[in-house]
Formats: sequence, C-alpha cells, structure tokens
Amino acid sequence: MIKKDYYEILGLGRNASQEEVKKTYRKLALKFHPDRNQGDKQAEERFKEASEAYEVLHDPQKRQVYDQFGHAGLEGRGFHGFGDVGDVFSAFGDIFGDLFSFDTAGQGRRAGRRGADLRYDLQISFVDAAFGKKISIEVPRHESCPDCSGTGAETDTAIKPCPDCGGKGSVIHSQGFFSVSTTCSRCRGEGKFIEHPCRGCRGHGLVSKKRQLEVKIPGGIEDSNRLRLSSEGEPGTGGGPAGDLYVFIRVKEHPLFTRHGDDVVCQAPISFPQAVLGCEIEVPTLEGTTKLTIPHGTPTGKIFRLSGLGVQHLHGRGRGHQLVQVEIQVPKKLSAEQEKLLREYARLTGDDIAPQKEGFLKRFAQKKAN
Ligand SMILES: [Zn+2]
Ligand SMILES: [Zn+2]
Repeated sequence: MIKKDYYEILGLGRNASQEEVKKTYRKLALKFHPDRNQGDKQAEERFKEASEAYEVLHDPQKRQVYDQFGHAGLEGRGFHGFGDVGDVFSAFGDIFGDLFSFDTAGQGRRAGRRGADLRYDLQISFVDAAFGKKISIEVPRHESCPDCSGTGAETDTAIKPCPDCGGKGSVIHSQGFFSVSTTCSRCRGEGKFIEHPCRGCRGHGLVSKKRQLEVKIPGGIEDSNRLRLSSEGEPGTGGGPAGDLYVFIRVKEHPLFTRHGDDVVCQAPISFPQAVLGCEIEVPTLEGTTKLTIPHGTPTGKIFRLSGLGVQHLHGRGRGHQLVQVEIQVPKKLSAEQEKLLREYARLTGDDIAPQKEGFLKRFAQKKAN
C-alpha cells in the first residue's frame, strides 16, 4: 500500500508552522471525528490519516526524520502509524484533552465546559422601542488568546502533565480504609502543567476583548424585555460551546407619550372656547404631527382615538392606536376686557357666580339630608 504524503493529507506546505499543523489537524479531526460520523468508513479513514499526519508533523523529531527520509525513515525507527481509530485514541489520550477536551482516559469522551452567559444593559429611546432599530453595541468578553490559540502555553512542548496528579486532574488521599479522590489543587483538575506560560494571556488561554455586535431591536419591544444572542457569551473551555449574551432592554421615558400595551397616550391642552365651539388642533404623533378635529361641546378629559398610530405589534403585523385626551385649560390671568366679557357671558347663561354657588350648596345639603 502506498502511503500518502503527510503534508498533503493536512493540505499544508512543507514549511507550515507547528501552529498551522495543530490548527489544521484540529479542524479535520473535528470534521471526521468518529463520534460525529458514526458508521462512516470513509470519515474514519480520513480521521486516522489526519491523526497520523499530525502525530508525525507536530513532533519536531519525527518531522525531521520524515522530511529527510520519508515514510521509510519513520518505519526504520519503529513508527508504523495507526492500525485503527482505537490506536489513535490511546496514542492521543493526553493531546486530545488539549485539543478537544475529549476525556479519553476516563469513561468515554465528554465535551468541555460551556462558557458563561453574559448580560448587557441597553437603554433605547421610546420611539426605537416602538418601531425597532439595529443598534451597535460593544461587549467586553473573553476570547481565545490569539498568541497561543487558547492553550496558555508559549509553545506546544511547554504543556506537560501536572506533576502533582500525573495529568489525571485528581489526587487520591487515603483516610483509614477509605480512599478519597479530590480535584488536584495545583492544576485545578485540568491535569496540565504549563512550564512556559504564554506572555499574551499569562497562561490563562483567554484575553479580554471588546466585541462589536449589532443588536436587532424588534418594534414593539417593552421595558425590561430581554433579547438572547446565542453563542455571543463567554467562550467555552476545552472545546465546550460558548455561552449566550442576554441584552436587557431599558426604554427611556418620553416627554409626551406613555404606553399602554401597544397604544400610546398623550394629553392635548385646549381652551374653553375651543372646547365649546369646536376646532381643529395639531397633535404630536410618534412620527411627527397630525390634525385632530375637536367637535363643539367637547368636555374635558374626553379621549379621541387616532387609529393605527401606536406602537408596532411585537410579533405580528399592524400597530396599536394613539389615544389623545383633551384637557381644558383654565386661564389664571385675564385682561380687564376679557374679564368683562366673561362676566357678561356668565350673566347671559345665568351662571352668575354667587347664585351658582348657592344652588350647588343647596343641592349638596339636600343630598346629605336624604
Ligand atoms: Zn494536577
Ligand atoms: Zn496566550
């Protein structure tokens, strides 16, 4: 059987860096991993091939032999590649932990830890809540360190099994007849010891970054609603999925409008003559202004409905209404002439101040007696 060229398998050039070898293998291994391609013989073969290529090329010594003498050179030194997928897992027990956090030593492979969810408070205007808007936000969060690809180590060879636990992540204490297994305090259960921590992230594998995101605010959103941006939270560790980002919405108050569901309510001041005689007034709307006809004889507090000028329905078409409540304004100061005319008006309607007062008091007294 003719063996394929290792560089060709990974699709890399002869001078590919260690980092490139690792990255490419990681990609291929995830794609062709047996857990993801159950029963697919071809995928299994690709997985095995890629693993073998990685096994040779990531190791400077093996790589040098291969570069110089090819497959024959490796075979001459006792390297025969992998017979089957099981060989890959037993050979890569440790390295797989780093690459994917598949725990091959223990009870089957398990995925890494999911990243934490993040919260972002976003204040938006009343009108943006009504009609929706795309808003750009900057979210501080952690990202995989670009210098070390998240390994936390200066170079690949700087990661060693933890000396306290031998890479198992747990240590066993004997207490009388019992043995108790506890998480290793030195490596905090990760089983790794980083001899030369990466300078970019001081060995954490993560760096703080501000990430620009666009949030699509749907029209009709309400104060204290929240939006979920899936996988925009903190990154997972050991190949685990990222957390989610929750955007909590705060809607600013509007100087003129209040909201009742999808209806908006506003007050419109009118004068006594306008209320009595009727008129046309201009009222503000969410988008500008509109004309409203006040019929003659309108009492104070009456509510007029402007159909379809309210807030967008959140999940559906159409909009709420605008409700305009008129408020008759009472002037505090009158000119001499105005007062004279008003007194004349009162005399003509029989609403002279004193008798009206008397009549009201009389009626009030009668009611009490009943
Ligand atoms: Zn340890
Ligand atoms: Zn780093």
